Amino acid sequence: MIRELHAQIRSCTLCRLHEGRTHAVPGEGKVPADIMFIGEGPGYHEDQQGRPFVGPAGKFLDDLLASIGLRREQVFITNIIKCRPPQNRDPQPDEIEACHDYLDAQIALVRPRIVCTLGRHAMAAVIDPRLSISKSHGIAYRKSGILNVPLVHPAAALHKESWRSTIEQDFRKLGQMLKREIRGEPQPGEQHAPPPQKTEPKRPNQLSFDG
Ligand code: SF4
Repeated sequence: MIRELHAQIRSCTLCRLHEGRTHAVPGEGKVPADIMFIGEGPGYHEDQQGRPFVGPAGKFLDDLLASIGLRREQVFITNIIKCRPPQNRDPQPDEIEACHDYLDAQIALVRPRIVCTLGRHAMAAVIDPRLSISKSHGIAYRKSGILNVPLVHPAAALHKESWRSTIEQDFRKLGQMLKREIRGEPQPGEQHAPPPQKTEPKRPNQLSFDG
């Protein structure tokens, strides 16, 4: 159950980020859901409230969802790391690694048709670290049967007008992709995610949660 998983996340001490958090931010939304959004990590507002995407970027994400006829309650939203890094620095590889089994467990429970990553760190952790966000945003990558779509992070889009129109356009494409996915139709331009790198590190089996 998602509730037990999120309780485990709230008391997690697997990486150093637990030391500075006010609240862990497991994520929230519909379970199961057709579409899941995965950002990079909690910021100040999220850390204070224990909820994902509640600051200005979250308000923009709500507007983007509304533009394709969706409300926040109809999707699932989380991050690759569940605790705020100090001074909002980038997440470190070992922190992403320590937290990744929680994300895998959430994906298994939410069972999304489409996973949208928000920003380059989420794209690298979920789809492929060799992709470039400037070239890959808005492209549909099929991986393990799920359509993965990298998107620009809404916070970046708020600070750069060109990224703002990019993410708005990509959401319009996303709305069409979701309709096709529900109807079981092929996705034009769909690509297969590249196979994993041979040097990809093995993650320790760290969770006792069994779904
Ligand atoms: S970031 Fe993830 S692994 Fe690290 S303490 Fe928080 S919940 Fe645990």
